[in-house]
Amino acid sequence: MGGVEASSFLIGIGDLEPGVRRDVRIEAPADWAVATSKAAGPIVADLALHAHSGGVMVTGSAAAEFTHTCNRCLTDYTATLSVRIAEDFLSGDGGDYVVVDDTIDTEPMLRDELLLAVPLVPRCRDDCRGLCPECGTDLNTHACSGHETESVSPFAELRSLFDQE
Ligand SMILES: [Zn+2]
Ligand SMILES: [Zn+2]
Repeated sequence: MGGVEASSFLIGIGDLEPGVRRDVRIEAPADWAVATSKAAGPIVADLALHAHSGGVMVTGSAAAEFTHTCNRCLTDYTATLSVRIAEDFLSGDGGDYVVVDDTIDTEPMLRDELLLAVPLVPRCRDDCRGLCPECGTDLNTHACSGHETESVSPFAELRSLFDQE
């Protein structure tokens, strides 16, 4: 069982020649989190580096398992997040991401892209029924026996008695 060796988010680009593409696979642990979502496994990114006069263009894709807390039933669930990558690393100032000492650090870029893809309102499934607002029963797994509403309150019953007369 070989497995993929963990690799750094840092990529040396000193030997990268303009016009020549280099493919890189990154597989590295990360503890990135936002709101009720957090990374639950290694970040895997397949990237292509293209050097140009101003820096390096990085394209490809990245994915990771994320654990989310369902906004409706509050259950934790795991789902794969994947994103397309197309970012420029510039030599010198001015870009979101920069080349420093012939090295690019892909971690901030991958973190930004993946955390942006986290759903704002995570749901364990599209038709999650959520929790009963009265008793907190998870309506996905249990039927709530129901609660007294105004129409069956003692006062309402009393009123219906009067109505019958
Ligand atoms: Zn749910
Ligand atoms: Zn209930």
